[in-house]
Order: sequence, then structure tokens, then C-alpha cells
Amino acid sequence: MSLPSSSSHSHNARQLSQAILRLLKQNPDLKPRYQRAKDTVRAFRNPAFYEMETRCNLKCEGCYYFEGGDTWKINGNRPLSDWQHFFSQEAERGVTMAYFVGAEPALAQERLLAAAEHFPWGNIGTNGTIPLDKDIPYRIGVSVWAGDDNSDRLLRGASVFRKALGNYAGDSRAIMLFTVSSQTINQVPEVARLCYEHGVELTYNLYSPTHSYLNKLARHQQHDDKFFRFSDLTHSPMFSDDDLHRTREILGASIEDYPETVAYCQEYNDLMCQPGPRYQLDDQGIAINCHSRVIDPMKYYTCDLEPGQVKCGTPDIDCSQCRMYSGGWSSRFTPSLQDVSCREAFIGWLNTIDTLGRIFLYPRPAWLQQESATSRAAEASALE
Ligand code: SF4
Repeated sequence: MSLPSSSSHSHNARQLSQAILRLLKQNPDLKPRYQRAKDTVRAFRNPAFYEMETRCNLKCEGCYYFEGGDTWKINGNRPLSDWQHFFSQEAERGVTMAYFVGAEPALAQERLLAAAEHFPWGNIGTNGTIPLDKDIPYRIGVSVWAGDDNSDRLLRGASVFRKALGNYAGDSRAIMLFTVSSQTINQVPEVARLCYEHGVELTYNLYSPTHSYLNKLARHQQHDDKFFRFSDLTHSPMFSDDDLHRTREILGASIEDYPETVAYCQEYNDLMCQPGPRYQLDDQGIAINCHSRVIDPMKYYTCDLEPGQVKCGTPDIDCSQCRMYSGGWSSRFTPSLQDVSCREAFIGWLNTIDTLGRIFLYPRPAWLQQESATSRAAEASALE
């Protein structure tokens, strides 16, 4: 499949803006929500990824960082003054949203504190076992792979979730990011209950295999004590179509059961749990319509502060099987023509953007504070 031409791209953009104008004219009650969605999307207008550390204190099955490339071999020992200078230059070129990624950023907190002086919005991906300094003012996405200790030890080599819950109970910066897999779908209700009891928000990511992991499975590679400890062709975290169906039901129920805790929405859940690839792929099998793609090298930096040549923040993942939250949510920034085909579909897209704002923006911006209570009431009365 070839990339869309610029003329077809601008034709689609024109169609889209005309359809939105038409919808808003017919449904003026949706104008405030559309404005809110635009404000949310604007916060992400100039994103950049920064690998903060080359070390981690865990070894997780099929790790996206250590199994997915060799940037961990880079010498990341630049002095703090270099990081401070680097972040100030990044802020000068207008980065609005900084993603602080692996290996484990909590092992480099002085760098995070340096970044905090420069970027309006930030998201830190951490395993949650090392508490982050209270002065780091960004969203903390704590990776959760399992709700019970046995599965956690199997998947990550340690009991991680309980420790992370203890570290982040009641911390409004934190959101538990549960990577649900075929092996852990049934643990969702327990994880949601524990997050609710500990006063910490929860969202979901769907397990997506890396090429290295898929190759090991295909070659029947021997297990080791690092990143490939138990999987084989009959027993792996990957999803069958039936698993996806079950996942959709269980995640959907958790949104209903814990609305204050679970930051997820039915529209996104329906989309991600459909069988088959979630993106259009080019001849190399790379997603052409994934918004997480690093097209501009100035958007991704490895630990030596040099631009990284990667396709996205999780470069070894097979795009044809990718259901990662990063690509999934960011690819919803712009509505599709289907999203603007009628009032109901458009409200679904607006719900998705509200949820995206709730997951990634900390502190919660003013435009999302009173979120939907008032506007949903207005929408309901417009339907009467
Ligand atoms: S986030 Fe996008 S580019 Fe990266 S693996 Fe997933 S689909 Fe491919």
C-alpha cells in the first residue's frame, strides 16, 4: 500500500472540516465540547520523546526497551548540565508535550527535575517500584502487567504492582497503565478494585508483541532467565479474536463499575478490541496512519541526547499487531470521516478526546475540570 498523496490528503481535510461545520451548525449544543477537544489536542501539538536512562531494575517478558533495540548500549552518562542545556533548547523550539521513557526514568530523577523547569506537559513511563520526587509535576504512567503476585513474578520477575500501589496511593499525578494480555484479562476487575481502594486512576494498554518476541516464538527458542521465560506457541500473552472479544466485555464493565477510577471509554475500547490490524500498513508492514510515528528525527532522543532513528516510541513492535495505547490514542487526535458522519458518531469522538485528556494531561487543565456533567446534560436535553 502506498502513502496517500498530498492532494488526496488535502481533499480529505477539506471534506472533514466541511462535515464538522455542518454538524456544529445542526447541533450548536456540541460547540463547547468541540472547543474543549481542540484545546486538548493543542496540548499535544509539538511532542517529543526522551529516553532518560539506559538501566532498569526489572526484567519483563518481551520488554519493549531491552528486547526492542540496542539503545541501552549507548553511553548515557552525560553530565546534568548537558541535560539542563538540552531541555532549555527543546523548550525554545516549542516542545509542548514531553514523553520521558525507558529504560527506567525513576533512576534518573535529577534529569526529570531539570526537564520540569521547561515543558508545560509531561508524561513519565515508569514501573512504579521507585517513588518519584514530589516536585516532579508530570503525569506518571505506572506500568502494570498483572494484578496478582504470581503472574507479576512470572511476567516481570518480581511483585511489582503491590509495591507501585503503595508508592502511589492517593497521588493524583499517577495513573496505573495496565497492559492487559490474554494471560491477565481476568485480573482486570481485581486491578480496578485495588486502584479504586488506593485512590489512584487506572487506564489500559493492550499487549502488542515485538518482532524479537515473535521471532523467538517462531524459532521455538529456548527460554532464558531474562526477557523470554515462559512463552511458547500455545502459551503467550498474545490475543486471539476470542480473547479480544472477552477483553472488550471486561474492560467495558470496569468503566461502568469504577467511573471515577478508570480513565478509558467505550468508543476507544470498541475500536481497539476489533480483530485484525488497527492500521493501514505500507509494503514494509509499517503503519502509515499511526500518529505515533516519528517522521521527524527531532522528536525522539536517546540517552546520549542525540536524535534516535526509530519509527515510534516502541520501535520493535509489529505494527500489524499493535494495540499500544500510545499509537492508539494519538491516532484519534483528528476525527475520521466516519466520526463526523452523524451526531452520535461525533459525540463518540468527543468522548474519546475527553478521555485522552484525562489520561495524559496533568494537572487536569481548567477546560477539562467540569468535564461532562454540564455538557452531557445539555446533549441529553437536545435529544429530547
Ligand atoms: S505505535 Fe504505531 S508505529 Fe509504533 S508499532 Fe504501533 S502502529 Fe507501529
